[in-house]
Amino acid sequence: MERSTIVRVHEGLHARPATRFVKLAKGFESDVELIKDGKAVSAKSSVKLMLLAVKENQEVTVRANGADAIEALEALIGYLENPRAGLDDEAEAQSPANDAGQEAAPAPGSVPAAPGGANRLRGVAASEGFAVGPAFAHFPPDIAGQGRMLRAEEIKGEIDRFRTAVGAVQARMDHALAQDSLSAGDRGIVAALRDIAADDSLTGEAEGLIKGGNDAVSAVITAASTIAAEFSAVDDHYLNARADDVHAVGRQICLVLLGQDDVSLENIPEGAILIADDIGAWDLARAPLKRIGGVVCGHGGATSHIAIIARSHGIPAVLGLGDQVNALRTARDVALDGNAGHVIIDPDEATRADFAGRIEAAAKERAGLTVFKTVTPKLADGRIIEVAANIGSLEEIEAAQEAGAMGIGLFRTELLFMRHMHLPSEDMQAETYAALAKAFAPYPVIVRTLDIGGDKPIAGIEFPDEENPFLGWRGIRMCLDRPDIFKRQLRALLRAAVHGNIKVMLPMVSDISEVRQTRVLVDECTAELKAEGVPHASFDLGVMIETPAAVLIAPALAKEVAFFSIGTNDLTQYIMAADRLNPTVAKLNDVTNPAVMSAIEMTAKAGVAAGIMVGMCGEAAGRPDLIATFVKMGLTELSMSPASIQRAKKAIMAMAAEG
Ligand code: PEP
Ligand code: MG
Repeated sequence: MERSTIVRVHEGLHARPATRFVKLAKGFESDVELIKDGKAVSAKSSVKLMLLAVKENQEVTVRANGADAIEALEALIGYLENPRAGLDDEAEAQSPANDAGQEAAPAPGSVPAAPGGANRLRGVAASEGFAVGPAFAHFPPDIAGQGRMLRAEEIKGEIDRFRTAVGAVQARMDHALAQDSLSAGDRGIVAALRDIAADDSLTGEAEGLIKGGNDAVSAVITAASTIAAEFSAVDDHYLNARADDVHAVGRQICLVLLGQDDVSLENIPEGAILIADDIGAWDLARAPLKRIGGVVCGHGGATSHIAIIARSHGIPAVLGLGDQVNALRTARDVALDGNAGHVIIDPDEATRADFAGRIEAAAKERAGLTVFKTVTPKLADGRIIEVAANIGSLEEIEAAQEAGAMGIGLFRTELLFMRHMHLPSEDMQAETYAALAKAFAPYPVIVRTLDIGGDKPIAGIEFPDEENPFLGWRGIRMCLDRPDIFKRQLRALLRAAVHGNIKVMLPMVSDISEVRQTRVLVDECTAELKAEGVPHASFDLGVMIETPAAVLIAPALAKEVAFFSIGTNDLTQYIMAADRLNPTVAKLNDVTNPAVMSAIEMTAKAGVAAGIMVGMCGEAAGRPDLIATFVKMGLTELSMSPASIQRAKKAIMAMAAEG
């Protein structure tokens, strides 16, 4: 018995929808197949389903054979046509394994480089701080099979050994998923791997090879390579990346078979510096981060997964050393300067003393600042200054809370778009924004709509070649031209607003019509959600003030929006006509230049006169030397990287004390 339909699952049967579909299918006794373009696969294998690469709006057929075939067809066709109906409450994991990372939090470069002489290597400063500790070299060997053919009487035992190993790997992953300590992002990574380990595509392929006389390790290596090659061959970036997941799971099974407990990052000594060429998603998710003194990698950069994790756990990191990392394989001790991006092999006494001084000074400063974590900075006139955090992923929530953030003043959503191989779905976005809102309620969470341009292209949006991407099709300009993308984000934000204090701000605004057009889209989205019966709530709409045009029309803009947030990073480059990425004009790119300061003041005046909140979310908001000036101009919200929050609160309190 079979029925055909058009798939309405947004973005097709990718990882999580495939898992859901399989879960539904497994609930029926019948054999169930999904057929596309004449190719039929079992609907009870998520790997096979993913490899069928079913996309939204494609026609497929579901075929069921068995006692409950009618019910199976009904449920599965129902899911394909209306994937939201009948979902269980299972929290959807958000980050597929191998998602690449994250926010570039530029480490402060103001600290002079530490000494170190000839043993010094230079990499990317990926997470600020200093560390000296024993080197913990983590270069897992390549796994090789025994390459011998089994005798017939050995085969059954080898299959049993293989099944036990698969069970152990699944149990280990289930155990990891049960830990409360796993962050949402890490949970998604492990869940995606567990799905592959639990799927009989990999295990079935390997068992077939063992039955043919291959030893289990060789069989797993070959099976993983075969399935990974199938993922690599699909014309879909997202599915291509699943090839790495298959290899990662295969590696885990092999290690159990070989009796080697993987990579043993668990045994890393207290305070050690982890040295690796690269660190896999699975290893990273399980590493005892509290014990790690520092991280040095050949791969990666300020935007890689390891960088974001290091920053959110306060671990100094230098990444992107390339082949130089091999020089560290035999190091006994390592000193690392995460501010300057330096690594020193076997530091001498003078270097150790220098680092000890830096570490002590940094710790002293941090300890002295912790009293400000719970402080609500208030001025002599009773006005509260909100000190909020700039973040770009859910992984950073904890660091922001730990620092004492009074909400989120800037959630950079482009990172959510960049870390995925395809445009994030409305559901996924709604869950992400809702998680933020819940984490900081009743404080506000200001989500910035997609601010992306030709300088930072993302999969799923075609950008034209532009001579000057910073003056081109970016931010609100691109979003208004692509309502399909923009409305998906606005709908997700309206849905998330039910869960807390969501505010929304538009980047790169230079004309009042951009705000008005956005409002029309917000109204459209609201009406759609209402008609669909989807819970939603309204949000305050604000704008970033980061173009000279926005400053000059600030009085008019202030009448149309609920708040301003001054983006000094872009405002400085546009006011000074000095590219923020070009070191040759770095001197001009100075927020304290009177031209920029007067633009900030004009903005504050316009906002205060209209009675709306004026905040700042550019890097300058966290500068203790400028905070008093901004507050005196009338700013009541300052948003910055979590590491600057306590220092900023201290500066405001000192100002209040002066009266
Ligand atoms: C800014 O321009 O000041 C800002 C906060 O936005 P971004 O740095 O993301 O451009
Ligand atoms: Mg900006």
